[in-house]
Amino acid sequence: MNISVIGTGYVGLVVGACLAETGSDVVCADVMESKIEGLKRNVLPIYEPGLEDLVERNQADGRLSFTTDIAAAIASADVLFVAVGTPPDEDGSADLQHVLAVAREVGRHMTREMVIVTKSTVPVGTAGKVAAEIRKEAKFPFHMCSNPEFLKEGAAVDDFMKPDRVVLGVDSEFAREAMNEIYAPFVRTGNPIIFMDIASAEMTKYAANGMLATRISFMNEIANLCELVGANVDMVRRGIGSDSRIGPSFLFPGPGYGGSCFPKDVKALVRTAAEMGMELKVLDAVEDVNDAQKMRLSEKLRDALGDDLTGKHIAVWGLAFKPQTDDMRDAPSLTLIKDLLEAGATVCAHDPASMKEARHKLHDTIVYAETNYDALSNADALVVVTDWNEYRHPDFGRVKEMLKRPLIIDGRNLYDPGKMLDLGFSYYSIGRSVVEHPSLNRVEYA
Ligand code: NAD
Repeated sequence: MNISVIGTGYVGLVVGACLAETGSDVVCADVMESKIEGLKRNVLPIYEPGLEDLVERNQADGRLSFTTDIAAAIASADVLFVAVGTPPDEDGSADLQHVLAVAREVGRHMTREMVIVTKSTVPVGTAGKVAAEIRKEAKFPFHMCSNPEFLKEGAAVDDFMKPDRVVLGVDSEFAREAMNEIYAPFVRTGNPIIFMDIASAEMTKYAANGMLATRISFMNEIANLCELVGANVDMVRRGIGSDSRIGPSFLFPGPGYGGSCFPKDVKALVRTAAEMGMELKVLDAVEDVNDAQKMRLSEKLRDALGDDLTGKHIAVWGLAFKPQTDDMRDAPSLTLIKDLLEAGATVCAHDPASMKEARHKLHDTIVYAETNYDALSNADALVVVTDWNEYRHPDFGRVKEMLKRPLIIDGRNLYDPGKMLDLGFSYYSIGRSVVEHPSLNRVEYA
């Protein structure tokens, strides 16, 4: 079976490399020439653990190839995965222009009966629109499949190779058989392939992301209340997470969710409901809570340093929206940095993977540090935004020595408050009591 993947981003590249790894012949196509030229030389456009090895090995073995020739990729495919971006439109709905552009190309260039698989996250009804677009010029029969992707950036290869489940919305036995064959190597340990109708598959992706975003916003609100009533959200999290009806995942409070999926998918689902004349009250609140949460780190800085941040210099550890990725789309670090700069502060930041992406997004508005320690020089505070492993056990003696003031605002609860007090820091975290060291003279900042 010849497989082509159109769109070689976070999802398309992982899908293509993992399918090649199980023996399929895969062509990955993208309109971005620089990306494809790099990939041909095994230079990856993104940071994703384990992916480089897969690309290099499968390309060397001749199972994986890269091209900008979209027409040729379509012409050679029995099964075509569409993994192009679906960014939010101005009104929050998913922008389908890239998906529909691919559909038009499919109609023009198909050379055989084929299965078109939507990997991109698209609203209910999109498969019908794609099919209508293909049908305008199609000379062969084709079958539609909605195959939402649940991989997590930072663990994408593992998630794809060992999925909890594979969701497949199909419209024919032909599509069902082809997809069953493709995914059989990935579910050998018994995790299910769940076949369903296309609308339900499209909806499943949004419902999953809506649910996960809800858990995050819920815990962030509980954390904020913990601060007011003197409870410790880490204890509360463990207390509720051990209930088998709730489970421990996605209960960590923080600086709000970001990334390429939750913000846009929550917005798109709210928009879909609005188009149907329905208000999604829970998800409306989830978004509001998240917007407010993204300001919590700045608020805590102001609590510690006073309202006027003019002239303050702030060290930031972590720019990516989560660890193990260089993705900064909608990252909480961007909200924090924007607010600090508008308030007249200066910023020096470090991230193990997303410095290139940060330069692209923030240009020379901040200073970029080579190492996490370099970021601390003469800073009035350290703000930890992303929970990279290498930030978990820093040399606190060195941290204290380099900071102008021993103040840490920890957006990920990486450190123990009691230990921080013993070490002589003032320490603000999420959903836990503030630890104020006498050496932080708040009056000085008033
Ligand atoms: P991305 O922006 O990283 O990649 C999209 C790629 O598509 C880009 O390389 C772009 O050049 C290419 N492209 C756009 N139009 C094209 C066209 N007409 N022909 C060929 N290539 C084209 O996006 P992504 O993060 O990989 O997301 C892709 C889709 O998968 C989105 O719908 C997203 O919501 C969904 N998704 C993403 C994740 C994730 O973690 N990133 C997880 C699950 C689902």
